[in-house]
Amino acid sequence: MSVTQTSSESSKMATITCGCGEVKLTLPNTVPKFRCGCCCTECLQRVYIGTNGEPPAAIKNLDEPVDLLYIDSQIMMPDPDTLAKLAVFKLNNADAANINLRATCCGTVLVTENKEFHVPHTMATFHNLPPLLKCDFSKLPKSRLNVFTKDWPIEKMKSLASNEKSKHGQSLPQILDPRLAIKEESLTELISALQIEASPKPENSLSFTELREGMEMTIERAFFAEARSHLTG
Ligand SMILES: [Zn+2]
Ligand SMILES: [Zn+2]
Repeated sequence: MSVTQTSSESSKMATITCGCGEVKLTLPNTVPKFRCGCCCTECLQRVYIGTNGEPPAAIKNLDEPVDLLYIDSQIMMPDPDTLAKLAVFKLNNADAANINLRATCCGTVLVTENKEFHVPHTMATFHNLPPLLKCDFSKLPKSRLNVFTKDWPIEKMKSLASNEKSKHGQSLPQILDPRLAIKEESLTELISALQIEASPKPENSLSFTELREGMEMTIERAFFAEARSHLTG
């Protein structure tokens, strides 16, 4: 019996593509580790930056959190053309915990990595931003919780829960501030998912940390106020 090869190597991989299509990251693991909604102002500011000030309406109006996919920090080595269009930045100050990767062709923010929680095995990408960012994974986990709901007005938190309930039958746990709720069960699941080692690691693939070696870090302060206009007091 013969086995016919029907798909090329790359079609078995996941991709993250920028808004204009010039930059496509290819990832050997096609299944995200975890998925949750994030209501934090940093994620919102990242969306403002990555969409050049025009987030999708649902995100801008706080009707939907940023849909985070936690994925292996393992990327197939980009070709030189793609590599030349990648840059890293931190939000607002040099001490920021997150390092963000963007495509300089159109500005799309592709992935982010948090030095406290994600490294060395994990990074996050953003699922609900197409066509400005397109994620193609073979299998998407269900979102399990919403984090940093402290950054949302209380009425937005409530309507998020009731929308989820009418759509899916139940609302997801809301974690006001994950840093203060480390022992909550839903968060324990997230934290242990982040510690799963990246696999597979094909030849010619590398981690985000390795990819950004030698890239110049910039500090990006754009849209700081826009991403915080809903905060009171
Ligand atoms: Zn966030
Ligand atoms: Zn682009």
